[in-house]
Parts: sequence; C-alpha cells; structure tokens
Amino acid sequence: MKSIWMKDYVDKNIPTIEKDMETPILIIGGGIAGLMCAYNFMKNNIKFILVDGRKIAQGVSSKTTAQVSVAHDKLYEDIKKKYSNQKAILYLKSQLEGLNIINQIINDEKINCDYKEESTILCSSDKKNKDTLIDQYELIKKYSDVQLIGSSSDGFLFEHGLEFKKQFIFNPMKYMMGIIDILISNNVKLFENSLVTKIDKKDEGYEVIINEQYKIKTPKIVMACHYPILNPDNMYFTKIYQSKSYAIAFETKLKIPANYVSLDQPYFYLRTYDDKTLIIGGGDHYTGIDIDINKQYQLLIDKMYTLDKDAKIKYKWFTEDCMPIDSLPFVGKYSNKNPNIILITGFQKWGFTNSHVAAKNVTDMILNDDYEVIYKPNRFTLIKDLKSTFRMIGHSLDGLVFSKLFVSKHKLNEIKIGSGKVMRFNGINALVYRESKDDYVFLKNKCTHLGCSLIWNDVDKLWESKCHGSIFDRYGKVIYGPAIKDLERLSFK
Ligand SMILES: Cc1cc2nc3c(=O)[nH]c(=O)nc-3n(C[C@H](O)[C@H](O)[C@H](O)COP(=O)(O)OP(=O)(O)OC[C@H]3O[C@@H](n4cnc5c(N)ncnc54)[C@H](O)[C@@H]3O)c2cc1C
Repeated sequence: MKSIWMKDYVDKNIPTIEKDMETPILIIGGGIAGLMCAYNFMKNNIKFILVDGRKIAQGVSSKTTAQVSVAHDKLYEDIKKKYSNQKAILYLKSQLEGLNIINQIINDEKINCDYKEESTILCSSDKKNKDTLIDQYELIKKYSDVQLIGSSSDGFLFEHGLEFKKQFIFNPMKYMMGIIDILISNNVKLFENSLVTKIDKKDEGYEVIINEQYKIKTPKIVMACHYPILNPDNMYFTKIYQSKSYAIAFETKLKIPANYVSLDQPYFYLRTYDDKTLIIGGGDHYTGIDIDINKQYQLLIDKMYTLDKDAKIKYKWFTEDCMPIDSLPFVGKYSNKNPNIILITGFQKWGFTNSHVAAKNVTDMILNDDYEVIYKPNRFTLIKDLKSTFRMIGHSLDGLVFSKLFVSKHKLNEIKIGSGKVMRFNGINALVYRESKDDYVFLKNKCTHLGCSLIWNDVDKLWESKCHGSIFDRYGKVIYGPAIKDLERLSFK
C-alpha cells in the first residue's frame, strides 16, 4: 500500500556500495533523520558517507502525515509527570527550534514542497481531556503562541481545543527530494540498497558490513535507521516500542481551516492535502498484536463519513514509529561502550521537528567534543512509566515464550491462497504462506532481531514480529527493522 506522497518520489539512481570503503563518519539511514544530518554535515564541511538499506526516502518518513507542528499530543503533560516542568519546557523549546530550522531551510533553499502555514488544533470532546488541554496550556503558554478555544466554527470536530498558531503542513516527499538534490549537486556520497548487516568494533573504530559483503571502515557512526540495530548494548528493546498507525487520503468537498490532532478515543489526526483531498490518520496500536486491521481502517472511514458521507478513498497506508517509554527521544552517544556511535531515534510520531533539532545537536556534537546533548540515550528510563514497561515485558514474554508453547497443528490446505498461518509443520514452528494451490513458502517462526514469534497480517500480506516492530514480506524479506536479516527459509523434501 503506497502512501499518497510516493506520487512525488523520483528515482535518483543513487549507487549501491560495491567495494570496501573508508570514511570519517558513516550515517546509517536515509530517512528524514539521516538526510538532515547529511545536509547539516555538508553545510559544515564535515566529510561522511550515507548508506540506506533500501531506497533513500522510502522508509517511515515517506508514509507520515507531515503535520509540522509542536502540538505533540499530550507529551508536555506526560514529560512533566515523568520528569519535571522544566524538562517539559526544555522539550517544547527544542521542538520550537526544530520548527524554526525546517522553516528556514525551506526558505533558504527555496524548496517547493506545498508549504502551507496554519494552526494545529489539539482537540477533544471529552471532559477528562479538556482538563489535560487546560493543564498543558498553563504549562506552555509562556513559551509558545497557544490559545484555548471552544468548538470549531463548523461545530463538527471538537468541543475543546488548544490552538497552536503558525505551524505548517507540507509534502514530505517533495521536501526530501529537494534535500537529496542539494546533496547530490554538492557531490555528497549517498548509497542505497546498501543494508548494514553487521557492525564490528575494532580498536581504531568500526568495520561496518554492507549487504553481508563489503566493509566500510569508520571511526564514527551516526545511527539514523529508525530503531537501534546494535544489540544488546544499552538494551534499547526495553526502552522503545513500535506503534503502528494508519492513514487514508479521501477525495472530499470538505474544507478545514487548520490541521487537527484529537486526544479522544478512537484517536485521529486530520490535515488537508490539496483543495479536494484530506488525509486522516489514527487507529494506533502496539505493532505485532493480533488485531483486525480492517477495523483500524474502518475507524478512520467512520470518522471521515461523519464529516462527509460522500468522501471517497484514494490512498490508504500504514507505518510505525518508535515510542520511548519515558516520552523523550534518544539523541546522543549510543552507550558508554560505544560512545562513537551517535544514535537518533524515538520521535514518537513527531519526526519533523525532532529530526531537525536532532541533526543540529549531532552536528554540534561532532564539531565540539564537550557539547551536551539534551536527550542522552544512556539515561535510566525503566521506572518512568511502569505501565508501559510491564506491557513491553508482557509482549516480549508472549513473543519469546508463551506463543511458542501453543502453536496449533493445521493442514496446509486450510490456508487460503494468498494468505499465511503460523503452524507446527513436520514438528517445526513455522510460518507458512500459500502462494498458489500447490505452492507454499515455509519460514522459521523466529524473528532475526531477538527471536520472537511472528503473526500474519492478512491485509498487507506481511509477517510482523510480536515484540519489537520488525516486519517482513510474505517471503521473509525484512522491510522494517530492527531486524537486519531476512527470516530463515525452511525446506521440506
Ligand atoms: C502514520 C504516522 C504518521 C506520522 N505523522 C507525523 C506528522 O504528522 N508529523 C511528524 O512530525 N511526524 C509524524 N510521524 C513521525 C515521523 O514520520 C517519523 O518519526 C519519522 O519519519 C522517522 O524518520 P526516520 O528518519 O527516523 O526513519 P525512516 O524514515 O524510516 O528512515 C530510516 C531509514 O533507515 C534505513 N535503514 C533501516 N535499517 C537499516 C540498515 N540496517 N542499514 C541501512 N539502512 C537502514 C531504512 O531503509 C530507512 O530508509 C508519523 C509517523 C507515523 C507512523
């Protein structure tokens, strides 16, 4: 399922790594985080190479809804509760800085990316959330242009709102394409289809293996590949979970004056695409739970039909994002053991302001050894949100232990053509996909990240890990990390 933004993707014929190389800095990942580091490094004459395991600009950043805003749900309240008022304000200030940076780049570089300044309205029709909106307003009003408002003029979306003025929406693909053009015209070394399959620590730095074949020697790595891939160092799998979210672009006559983020259940967000298209997103849940995906899309369809019953679906898609349990991103030294790997992750569905501020912080770190980042990755997070911690442990236990104990025996012909099933076959815990009447694909039911079980997603025809968000296609090829290896094929003679 392609997102609406893919219409504007242009293949730049970026090369693949085909020999051993050496570089002072290796950026892993060509999504918004990696690209913005590349842009900042280029501007500061810092030499580097960027590699992406797939096509650059086709990861999560190509499936976002691109509200560029500091109206980050109720994160300010969450950070206040988990840390302090001060920390919540620090987060706000950093996001305002991110908003300024991206505005500045669009202006300075004259990137044509359908920029439209408008308010973002955090909204709710629920009394409990009204209090949260008021608390959040009191917390941040001194530092940002916000205002409490009543029901919208059309009266259809909410009863209580917190308006953040001077935010914007844009086309993220046009923006990324603009950045890539600038990088290419400045002879920056970009490589795609060059998956990092191993990172070996050496005395003088790292030897990074690409596509299990070529070596890149480097003293420093910037890991911007969405979810951390070096395990078990710093145990990121106990600090971050992945959350899926769905989006639909509708053709509609409805006009909306702002973009919206609802705090109510079912959660949704809404923005304009062009004068006859709106995008609605939501239906979020922990990746890897057994859920009826059609129902998640239906939540969005139902919401849209309450606004315009004649709206027509044009595109629908899903993606997932990294959610730190203590509600702060991770930007800085990977761990005490690996201080020369700089990690960027944990944007919790607010990647545009976060990636720009992260790229600036990382550049400052590289230019100045003493620079203090604000989202230190080696902070202690586990007790900041015990509910999320126990939920993550529960998912991991289920994926690693319980679901492996109870695998049903099925007959192959019980699987519908074009569908998959987890089953015990010939005594092996297997993932079976039925390609045609007599053709089956057999894979080992063991995620190549940390060994968790997988489930079948029958809407998108994918295998999803129950624990940490890795997703594989029907043939076992990894399409979303943290896994970096494909699932093991099984053959039964
Ligand atoms: C449905 C949805 C809606 C969202 N809407 C908004 C929004 O309105 N506003 C907002 O600010 N944010 C939003 N977000 C969040 C935002 O889209 C993400 O936080 C952001 O795009 C993440 O960027 P990234 O660069 O970290 O990841 P990606 O864009 O996924 O880039 C990571 C890259 O790393 C590569 N990679 C992975 N592993 C390897 C490897 N081993 N070797 C080499 N390369 C590798 C991948 O191929 C990929 O290209 C949304 C998120 C979701 C899920």
